[in-house]
Amino acid sequence: MRARPHISVTCDCGSSGDADPGEAWRCDACGQLWRLGDPPRSLVEAAARLDRVHRRRTVASLVGIGLACLLPAATGDRVAFALAAPGALAAWSLTVLPRLRRRYRTALDALPAWSVRG
Ligand SMILES: [Zn+2]
Repeated sequence: MRARPHISVTCDCGSSGDADPGEAWRCDACGQLWRLGDPPRSLVEAAARLDRVHRRRTVASLVGIGLACLLPAATGDRVAFALAAPGALAAWSLTVLPRLRRRYRTALDALPAWSVRG
């Protein structure tokens, strides 16, 4: 998953659609071709900032899981460690990771759309 600003294009004919940054967009209604440049720097930076925060949260939660798994190892119980690590990783990927991704998507959706009008 990569942060990409959302581009909303409104054609001269009144029709509208979504486009990817740097891509051309052709209006379905009238066929006009829109060549889109890069989105505003502030929007790109905001998306990159959200991306960095998401990555940091993901790594931090993984480190937390890793540290929690080390507790059985610290007591010398290698069998418990061998069982805890895969179980904790599976639980993390089924509960924490989807929540982090949902939070990231919600934050990306909350970014202002880059609107191009004819
Ligand atoms: Zn059009």
